[in-house]
Amino acid sequence: MSGVNIQGLSIKFGANEVIKRLDLQVREGEFLVLLGPSGCGKSTLLHSIAGLIDVSGGRIHIGGTDMTDAEPSERGIGMVFQSYALYPTMTVEKNMSFGLRVAGTPKAEIARRVTKAADMLQLTPLLARKPAQLSGGQRQRVAIGRALVREAGVFLFDEPLSNLDAKLRAELRRELKLLHQTLGNTMVYVTHDQVEAMTLASRIVVMKSGVIQQIGTPAEVYERPANLFVAGFLGAPA
Ligand code: ADP
Ligand code: MG
Repeated sequence: MSGVNIQGLSIKFGANEVIKRLDLQVREGEFLVLLGPSGCGKSTLLHSIAGLIDVSGGRIHIGGTDMTDAEPSERGIGMVFQSYALYPTMTVEKNMSFGLRVAGTPKAEIARRVTKAADMLQLTPLLARKPAQLSGGQRQRVAIGRALVREAGVFLFDEPLSNLDAKLRAELRRELKLLHQTLGNTMVYVTHDQVEAMTLASRIVVMKSGVIQQIGTPAEVYERPANLFVAGFLGAPA
């Protein structure tokens, strides 16, 4: 049971209500994409699921448990952000295992998970390298690997591909899709890129100014946009 249930969520920065009484059910095992223009509140919504910011109102349940006030480490989630922020002095292997070591995971279990994630992400030949010896795409794979080893029920991605060139983005899109098919975890993925949303999502949530405009499969939102904003945004180049 690792869906996410968001009810009446409100997030304010001072007087600025960035998320406005938002309701959203993320189904277990789906690849849900939050799509919308810069500043519409995608990262804020994702950070609230992760427990990185306080909510002003509403509840967030993860896997059936009320996690509104839980610490990030208690929520059963893994996260990947746009900037890779790898530890520069550690090898790929150490970067991937660091969080598990801190959490006191047994060595054999760490080795099992790192081997599995490295294999899925084609990082096995690179495990002894330092981040400076990697390409941008390889670094972002390590960042994804670092989240994967948590073997969390829910993965949160915040524009993880936006620093990469078009060819690498396409390649990593295919890999992410494959990963999801293999793992079957719940994915919540933030992007402002329509192509990314269309190719990855089982359902797309289109947002504008902290309010959901439409939720549907890629075909539904593309062929039957709920309003002019959705039609215009999906039609516009990324
Ligand atoms: P997106 O990820 O869709 O680009 P964000 O969630 O980052 O949008 O931001 C939504 C709005 O909230 C923006 O107007 C942004 O300026 C504001 N905002 C985000 N984080 C903070 C913060 N820590 N303090 C004040 N305002 C913030
Ligand atoms: Mg953002």
